[in-house]
Amino acid sequence: MITAEQVKAAVEAAGITRIEHHDCGMCGYMTAYLVEDGKLYFDPGCDCRWAGAPEPRDWRDAADWINMQSQPDIKARLAKAFGIDLPPADAA
Ligand SMILES: [Zn+2]
Repeated sequence: MITAEQVKAAVEAAGITRIEHHDCGMCGYMTAYLVEDGKLYFDPGCDCRWAGAPEPRDWRDAADWINMQSQPDIKARLAKAFGIDLPPADAA
């Protein structure tokens, strides 16, 4: 299990400021998590489903997003996007 603290520490250590989430099913805009001054935001980007402005998110949300992945390769890739090198045993 990845913890919120782990995600925050890894992102900061790697200097990551943007983590792609998924493309909008309606317009194709790539939504993403943004990191600014140690805080996490979610950028819905377009106005198709939510208001377009980035909104604050808890680091817990990012950790949950990684933890909920059932496919090891996807989970590892996602963790990597946050700067976390997931040992194969943890990904399974
Ligand atoms: Zn859209």
